[in-house]
Amino acid sequence: MADFDYDLFVIGGGSGGVRAARTSAATGARVALAEESRLGGTCVIRGCVPKKLMVFASSYPQLVDEASHYGWDAQIGAFDWPKFRKKLHSELDRLEEVYRSMLQKSDVEIFDCRARLKDAHTIELADGKTVTAKHILIASGGHPVRPDMPNADLGLVSNDMFLLEKLPKSVLIIGGGYIACEFACILNGLGVDVTIYLRGGQILRGFDSEARGLVAEMIRDSGVEIHTGTNIIEMDLEENVDDLPRGTNSDAAMGAPVSEVSHSSSRLGDNPKSQTRDAAGKRIWVKASNGRTGTFDHVFFATGRKPSTSDMGLEDVGVKLGRGGNIEVDEYSQSSVPSIYAIGDVTGRVELTPVAIREGMAFTETVFKGNKTPVDHELIPSAVFTQPELGTIGMTEEEAMEDREIEVYCTSFRPMQSAFIDKPARTLLKLIVDKESRVILGCHIVADHAGEMIQLVGIAIKAGLTKEQFDSTCAVHPTISEEIVTMRDPVRTG
Ligand code: NDP
Repeated sequence: MADFDYDLFVIGGGSGGVRAARTSAATGARVALAEESRLGGTCVIRGCVPKKLMVFASSYPQLVDEASHYGWDAQIGAFDWPKFRKKLHSELDRLEEVYRSMLQKSDVEIFDCRARLKDAHTIELADGKTVTAKHILIASGGHPVRPDMPNADLGLVSNDMFLLEKLPKSVLIIGGGYIACEFACILNGLGVDVTIYLRGGQILRGFDSEARGLVAEMIRDSGVEIHTGTNIIEMDLEENVDDLPRGTNSDAAMGAPVSEVSHSSSRLGDNPKSQTRDAAGKRIWVKASNGRTGTFDHVFFATGRKPSTSDMGLEDVGVKLGRGGNIEVDEYSQSSVPSIYAIGDVTGRVELTPVAIREGMAFTETVFKGNKTPVDHELIPSAVFTQPELGTIGMTEEEAMEDREIEVYCTSFRPMQSAFIDKPARTLLKLIVDKESRVILGCHIVADHAGEMIQLVGIAIKAGLTKEQFDSTCAVHPTISEEIVTMRDPVRTG
């Protein structure tokens, strides 16, 4: 090991990279980490954390409205976006410092710059300096992509949403995945007029049909316009609209390929790496695939993410990339070059922070503790932070019924808190059970705090418990989640 400058060099200071660096350093390894943007990565700086804080901010009008129905003399005032944004960013600065200090305390050397590979053991840093390491771990994450169409750079991507100078009056969101749905609810809650164009027939492709149907209904009821089977085919500044080419073939854009956005966080308009053009507060004109036209303060592309692997020298040193640009790795996160490993979103496996963290810890076990540890990607609970939330683990009804006999237990009702004030809010709890073994294969919950619920029920499902073991647990009354142990008869079998 003495022939190398370090035992481990980590590229990327997000959740996965930082955890792997710290746990590896704790074994006595000499570790360095390079991060070109801000320590904390997508989750802390431009993802889960600021998004969840915005979810909290956006939920107060509804709470105050409910309070008034419960007898309080309560009414919400105006929302001060600059005040919230300032507080949000000081919190992100604090968290970034926490990450830096955790690395420093773990004796991990930090390089605040971009790093690329020169060979299987050599890393080139931004100033041209090279260092060597016995092992290299790529944890460079992913970045948002936008459709490949003229003027797409006028549209925002998720990185930009935390940096807006002004809260817009209207936003058109393109896409119907996690990010589109979460931001639709956030912006709507903050008082923005939100419209969604999604090319598919329903939001949240891949989730249980019944659950996504209810989430769509609730989002619509809250005032968001969702246009299914619709995509954007033209966009420009409203002031240029007369110069636009006409007669675009709408079908051509339905499956428009996506183009890459910057790798790092973009400070709207002031970061040369950001590909978001600063529209200087001008409204954006759009034409949809169904011929409809409209203008919005912003267009927000929530059209997916891509692994950040370009211009890192990966292919030159023989690291095999998958079709989506992801680093191909085995169950131990090892790439096609034995000294190079990869974890997190850059591998295109499961794009979730807790998964990247687990992959980082499994890497340390395998490489520095001599305990070969594959990462377990089975039965991962997750939540979409819409309002209400969607919590999910395991198989959807559609997946489970493909190759086995199942029983579906499902209940949908108005929760007590909403029914009391005659609010149309509904919740859904659903269990998918293997008819033969009785094991619960999946659970889907649409409810306020479904994220909290699925974390807990996920333990039982991960442990492989049966429906009868669930039923043997006494209910906690009155709660929403008690239904998970009181659903006696299947609504469907097949
Ligand atoms: P998703 O893949 O979830 O959704 C992308 C959406 O964009 C889909 O509706 C897709 O349509 C649509 N789309 C893709 N390309 C185009 C195009 N050219 N034109 C129009 N629409 C297009 O991506 P997200 O960016 O929302 O999220 C990325 C990942 O980040 C998620 O998979 C998740 O793992 C993670 N994430 C997790 C969160 C959480 O845990 N709460 C929150 C946010 C992100 P179609 O379905 O037809 O392909």
